[in-house]
Amino acid sequence: MTRQRRVILEELRKENIHPTADLLYEMVRKRMPKISLGTVYRNLEILTALGEIQTLEISGSQKRYDGIPQKHYHIRCVHCGRMDDAPIAPLSTLEDELYGATVYTIMGHRLEFMGLCPECSRDEEARRVAEQLLGIPTEPAKPTDQN
Ligand SMILES: [Zn+2]
Ligand SMILES: [Zn+2]
Repeated sequence: MTRQRRVILEELRKENIHPTADLLYEMVRKRMPKISLGTVYRNLEILTALGEIQTLEISGSQKRYDGIPQKHYHIRCVHCGRMDDAPIAPLSTLEDELYGATVYTIMGHRLEFMGLCPECSRDEEARRVAEQLLGIPTEPAKPTDQN
């Protein structure tokens, strides 16, 4: 493994923050100032192909990279995009349940939990936006009971 690839992998696994390529590039550049964004992208592709890391495709946003190659679920903050690993084991029987119930050959599944990170849950506006986004009916402001 080239030094560049090793550094990329180390940075990715240091804290599993599931960075975008841009963010990872900033992290790697602190150790290898001359590395280019293109090199980072290329190595991320190779590492994914080698099964060392995972490329996470998130609809409507930039790809993120995961230093853990094993299957696991994620929790994503719908407000700031922070992503953490969900501390539960993957449901291995989920695919079996679909067997015979669809014309598809099921080859896997992806599950993502959505919510607010601790920081965003403290933010009133973030909560309102998140509830709208997730279609959670917000309670109408109750008229103050005078009597
Ligand atoms: Zn957040
Ligand atoms: Zn992860």
